[in-house]
This record gives sequence, C-alpha cells and structure tokens, in this order.
Amino acid sequence: MKLDSQIIQNIRADFPILEEKIYGKPLIYFDNGATTQKPLCVLEKIEYAYKHLNANIHRGVHYLSQKATEAHEEARSTIAGFLGATKREEIIFTRGTTEAINLIAFSFGEAFCQEGDEIIVSVMEHHSNIVPWQMLCERKKMQLRVVPMHENGELQIDAFRRLLNEKTKLVSVTHVSNVLGTVNPVDEMIRISHEMNVPVLIDGAQAVPHIPVNVQEMDADFYVFSGHKIYGPTGIGVLYGKEKWLNALPPYQGGGEMIEKVSFEKTTYNVLPFKFEAGTPDYIGSTALAEALRYISEIGLDNIAAYEHDLTAYATEQLSAIEGIRFIGTAAEKSAVISFLVGNIHPYDIGMLLDKLGIAVRTGHHCAQPLMDSLDIPGTVRASFSFYNTKEEIDVFVAALKRVVGMLS
Ligand code: PLP
Repeated sequence: MKLDSQIIQNIRADFPILEEKIYGKPLIYFDNGATTQKPLCVLEKIEYAYKHLNANIHRGVHYLSQKATEAHEEARSTIAGFLGATKREEIIFTRGTTEAINLIAFSFGEAFCQEGDEIIVSVMEHHSNIVPWQMLCERKKMQLRVVPMHENGELQIDAFRRLLNEKTKLVSVTHVSNVLGTVNPVDEMIRISHEMNVPVLIDGAQAVPHIPVNVQEMDADFYVFSGHKIYGPTGIGVLYGKEKWLNALPPYQGGGEMIEKVSFEKTTYNVLPFKFEAGTPDYIGSTALAEALRYISEIGLDNIAAYEHDLTAYATEQLSAIEGIRFIGTAAEKSAVISFLVGNIHPYDIGMLLDKLGIAVRTGHHCAQPLMDSLDIPGTVRASFSFYNTKEEIDVFVAALKRVVGMLS
C-alpha cells in the first residue's frame, strides 16, 4: 500500500501533538531521531491500563494482578513477533537501549571476558554503545577496537574484517546511525563475525521505527531498541537475546522477580526472561509499547520505509539548493535522517532560529562525540523524519532555512 496524502492526513490526525502551535506557528517536528510523538491509541492504552488494569504483576492471586500480568506477558509476545524472535522468553524488558547495552556489557563481560580480550564497535556509535564497553574494558583490562568509515559515512568492511581476531569477544554496532542515517550492512557483519565465532549485538534504536527487522533472518545474537523512539512511551525498551546466550549470562541486577529461592546462605535465580528483570517491571509501558507496535505494523513497515525514503530524497534535493550546504552522511543506504552544516554557521544558531519559526530540529553532537571528532566538526543540524511528516512541511522548512541562513551569513 502506498501511503498517499489522504492516508498521511488520517495518520496525522492520530497524533494530537501535531496540532500544537509553537510561537504561534504550526509545529513542524523533525526531531524524530531523538524521540517520536505518540498516537492516540498509545495514549489511550496508558490511561486505560492505569484506570482498569493497575496492580503489581506476577505472583498476585487477585483478579487485577492477573489481568495486568496477562497484559504485560502478551506485550512480550507481541514484541517477540515484531522482531521475529524464536521464543517470547528471548525478550527482556529494559528501560531502553542504553540499559539493554549496559546489561549485556556487564553480564557478558562477567561471563566471557578477561584481560587482553577485545570488543569491536564502530566509529559512528551513540555514546550508549561506546561507554558501557569502555567501562567493561577498564574493569577487565581489555581493548576497544573501532571500525572506521569511508568519507560518505559507510563503514569500512575490509577494515572490520581485519579487526576481528581470536581476542575479539563481541562486536557491537548500530543498525542505523542516528547522525548519518547510514543503514549498516549488519547481515554481512554478523556473518563475518560468526565465521570467527564472535557474537554480535545490534543497536536497533534508529532502525526499528523505519525498516522491517527480523532478528532470526539477520542472525543477531542480541538486538536492542527503545520504546520512545518507536511511538511508544519513555522508560521502556527491549533486549532481544538468543536463548543460548541469555541462559549463559549471569543476572545484571538483583532483587524481586529475578530469583527462584533466596536464603542468606544461597540464592538461586529465576528462569528466562525473569532472571534479567529485577524489581517491578514497567507493565504499563510494556502494554503501551505493544500498542505502538501494533499501530505501526498496521501501517506496515515496508510502506513506512518507502514513504520515508521518498520524503528524505525530496528533502535532500530541496536542501541541495541552499548555498554552502554540506551534507554529513551520504551513504547509498540511508534512513530518514539528514545531517548538515551551512558555511561556517554554527549549528546551534540555525536550530535556535528555526525553533522560533516552529520547526524542531536537533543540533549538536547527537551523543556521538567520537564521530564528530573523526569528521572534525563540532556538531551538525539534524532533521529526522517520520511517516507523519509531509513534503509540505519540508517546503516550509527549506524556505525557513533559507531565511535563517540569509540572516546568519
Ligand atoms: N543508540 C542510538 C543509535 C540512538 O540514536 C540512541 C538515542 O538517541 C540510543 C542508542 C540511546 O537510546 P536511549 O536514550 O533511549 O536509551
């Protein structure tokens, strides 16, 4: 199904915030890479759950507790289906991508890493896929290795091959760059890593809202994402892990839910997925996230990908007319992200003035300071799109940018 302008108008009506006026101007929200807006069905789900389903889950014998447990566990099944996981037990709820990566960096590090071992990341990682590995490397006296990229923002796969060696314990790379929009060849990177028996974690934070993902087809060992970037609530995220890995890893946090039996002499741990879910889980968040996934699955990720591809191509073409514009990230495979600089104008100044015109873009290093350093730039202006954005909004944005550049030049 092609998402034509009538369908997009109907979709936009599902997102109340798109009606907002910012300084008297209609909101143009191009900061979807940072977080996405929420459709009514997700907002209503949260309200419904608090009004009708709220009780702490698992172990409760009473009606409400059982209903809330059912909703939470159904959400787990929905997510397993969405990612193409083999089993629902392979889905662990976390607070987001960051917590999921920290979980693996800790637990995998405890179980499988020792002094002298190596972890591979890429130069385009978000801080949340760098710092947890640096912390592990510091703890265990290990080395972090970094896959470089070509000038257009594509990873150097030959260099990646050369980095893999018998000391490599794990590869952790982003599926889609939040700065460059590059869609990395993760299938190929996983295949190459597996030839060396090295497991791979894929940071899917910027991928799952835009392209269909199937963890079994790509053969990822771990795949992580955040609910708030895929039209769900904040504070909930997902770690997918192959059962064999999750069973082999020690728990990340201790507390209620994750235990089988506790005594002062010895504690034994619960089975998957509960072993990794200490404390009261965000059962409202999980239910609302499942609703968000149902919502976008109904629109269809293939349809979303095609629409956003057109939108990004249109925006790139329109922006190219601006004198002095320089695109940061021009990979052949790109997602709905455009990062750019204009002449010597500081990105922050552009962002500030666009804001006054009702246009929300992000400026700065986008939590990817090592990438900025490698490009020798302080930051970029980033416009990141969703299927609720339109060509008309892009026209307004480009006209506004021309005005802003005129004022700042
Ligand atoms: N990874 C990537 C590629 C991201 O873009 C982000 C957020 O921008 C994160 C990880 C961190 O996500 P969160 O802050 O939701 O944990």
